[in-house]
Amino acid sequence: MQEVPYFCPNCRSNRIKFSTITSYSQSFLKDALSGIVKEFLEPEPIVETEPTIQCLVCSFASNEMRFIKQAEREPRVETPTTAVYR
Ligand SMILES: [Zn+2]
Repeated sequence: MQEVPYFCPNCRSNRIKFSTITSYSQSFLKDALSGIVKEFLEPEPIVETEPTIQCLVCSFASNEMRFIKQAEREPRVETPTTAVYR
């Protein structure tokens, strides 16, 4: 994940609360006749080029770049209490 601001492109009210969604692949063996699962193998995370991010306000999930691009389009406006004056 990149250390840059996110902004949810769906609800456009959340810059703070997110989760990252990881997909796993878990192989298993079935009995060809009964259909019973005989063995589960170790789950392995699916390597993705970009993490999937979910907004915890509206549950919208998408690739990280959409959240980053939205934050770039609509940067957080600094208020007098957060602005640094030089
Ligand atoms: Zn949202």
